[in-house]
Amino acid sequence: MISNRELFLQNTAQTSTSPRLFEIERAEGVYLFGPNGERYMDLVSGFNVSNIGHRHPKVLQAIQAQLDKYLHVTVYGEFVQAPQVQLATELLAVLPASFESVYFTNSGAESVEGSMKIAKKFTGRKQLIAAEKAYHGSTQGALSLIGNEAYREAYAPLLPEIDFIRFNDIASLDHISTATAAVIIEAIQGEAGVRVPDRTFMQALRKKCDETGALLIFDEIQTGFGRTGKMFAFEHFDIVPDILMLAKGIGGGMPLGAFVASKAIMDVIKDNPMLGHITTFGGHPVSCAAARASLSVIQEEELLAQVPEKAAHFRQLLNHPKIQEIRGLGLMMCLQLQNFDQVYAVSSYCAEKGVMIDWYLHCETALRVAPPLTISLSEIEEACKIIREGIEKFC
Ligand code: PLP
Repeated sequence: MISNRELFLQNTAQTSTSPRLFEIERAEGVYLFGPNGERYMDLVSGFNVSNIGHRHPKVLQAIQAQLDKYLHVTVYGEFVQAPQVQLATELLAVLPASFESVYFTNSGAESVEGSMKIAKKFTGRKQLIAAEKAYHGSTQGALSLIGNEAYREAYAPLLPEIDFIRFNDIASLDHISTATAAVIIEAIQGEAGVRVPDRTFMQALRKKCDETGALLIFDEIQTGFGRTGKMFAFEHFDIVPDILMLAKGIGGGMPLGAFVASKAIMDVIKDNPMLGHITTFGGHPVSCAAARASLSVIQEEELLAQVPEKAAHFRQLLNHPKIQEIRGLGLMMCLQLQNFDQVYAVSSYCAEKGVMIDWYLHCETALRVAPPLTISLSEIEEACKIIREGIEKFC
């Protein structure tokens, strides 16, 4: 019989020449299980998705309850679907009052696409500004904002009138002008290798946007829903963006995204032309039901309050002379090594010993550590012991 691994290589599109090829049969809490008894502690969280762990019982219950009612019934924005409206209401309740309206999507990239559209229409301006080394997704519009020339060039031509600032560099804010519709920026640059900006930079950025009338769009697709110890990372900087883009951790493991803005900004998609931004599956009722459960788990289990202690535990246990730097905020962390060979060898060793870690799209010299927020202190100790062994062996 042909194995699933062979069928994967043969029949599914390959996105790299060296996929990691772990076969997963089941996932539970902070663990992934393979078909031959393998057990991996998941320190990647499906790339910042499984913030509350895999298959949280409350999420499963909510999905089951919605399965018994309805699945897809119509395109987004026509019928009143309780899971969508309840989730929108609950999301707005955990956001500052300037956020008044939620548009649900299927994914992060779609949240980026929608946000770019409303910013251009609301301001009547054409220019968008992103940050060097940014990652916002792989669709043509999101790709246009990627601060990595090689990725943009391969699929050119992309969107016109995109300019770039340097992340965390106040001097480069000069690029923002009264011609700028919006600045789109990650709250913390993830795929660049977890770059945490200074509060002063974010505050200067907010000020520059206010002065020029450019909208400030925050990509919290990786940082949202408790990952950094706050519900949203913008809270660390004491600023409020105009548009907030969400996905990944929002759905408790189900596909969902959203962009959130004031009513005045969001209302530009209502008419002229009508139905200018629509989606068939955006805000799928089962995903929204799962997201409601996930949000309530973050709140009821008081996961945000646990993040600082867990992050400090990681940092203390991973304090090792061969780790050049531990960057990050909360449980969004990155261990800087010297080169990709070390990263590959350490992550392979860890996987062999039952700990799943990975690296970053635009920073292959650093290890990605982003466990479910539900990870326990003893699990952190177990994981760090294995990471340290790998570091000592291969660095
Ligand atoms: N923005 C950021 C910061 C991301 O990390 C990602 C995905 O990794 C995206 C946007 C795109 O999200 P999606 O893969 O759901 O389209």
